[in-house]
Amino acid sequence: MNFYIMTLFPDMVMQGLNTSIIGRAAEKGLLTIEAVNIRDYTINKHKKVDDYPYGGGAGMLMQAQPVYDAWRSIVDKIGTKPRTIYLTPQGPTFTQQAAKSFAKEENLIFLCGHYEGIDERVLEEIVTDYVSIGDYVLTGGELPAMVMVDAISRMVPGVLTNDESGSTESFEGDLLEYPQYSRPEEWMGKKVPPVLLSGNHKLVDEWRREQSIIRTKERRPDLFARAELTEKERKKWR
Ligand code: SAM
Repeated sequence: MNFYIMTLFPDMVMQGLNTSIIGRAAEKGLLTIEAVNIRDYTINKHKKVDDYPYGGGAGMLMQAQPVYDAWRSIVDKIGTKPRTIYLTPQGPTFTQQAAKSFAKEENLIFLCGHYEGIDERVLEEIVTDYVSIGDYVLTGGELPAMVMVDAISRMVPGVLTNDESGSTESFEGDLLEYPQYSRPEEWMGKKVPPVLLSGNHKLVDEWRREQSIIRTKERRPDLFARAELTEKERKKWR
């Protein structure tokens, strides 16, 4: 899978994504991450990429020309027009489900805005998906793009080792993951739940399932309302 991140701050994106599990996956060739510097494509002799918004108002806007030409260079290089995601507080919120859907693509382009945002006309021309990472306003789209690349990469086969497998994680079936414990058996007077030491896998699975249900009901009632429960569980917990 190939990620192309259009940004004014390529170092920020690459430094953030070149480490840990994602960095290892890139090294193994399971994915490529390329930051495309929008400033390299401006035709302004002073390398300017922003200007005042028509109609007045605070702040500067990224101009259409350098954004379009940067996008065009990626499309011409790979020979297709991949889904192009504009990171914006004005999109639907990114979810695990959305990460799974994006992970089916071979190529993805991310467009990071800065300042007050980007001239609407180039967005109309190139953007296929508007995505927010939450209802708050950040200074730029770089952190949201990194969040998305991280979450999507984890869905690419081979990126997670067996030890890191994501199949029982939070959001599977709209439930949060159960609490987990490692050595020692007792820490600060707190003991690991005895069932986890019993060696009985059936009991462990039942306990974990119940803990997932309790935790989701307490912490995320919105998720719990749509969680997939058995008839028996529904009677007990809803
Ligand atoms: N004026 C814009 C508005 O009110 O919708 C906000 C611009 S914001 C200061 C600058 C850039 O940060 C945006 O173009 C976008 O790329 C990014 N950004 C800010 N908050 C975001 C969020 N919650 N999710 C995704 N991207 C965000």
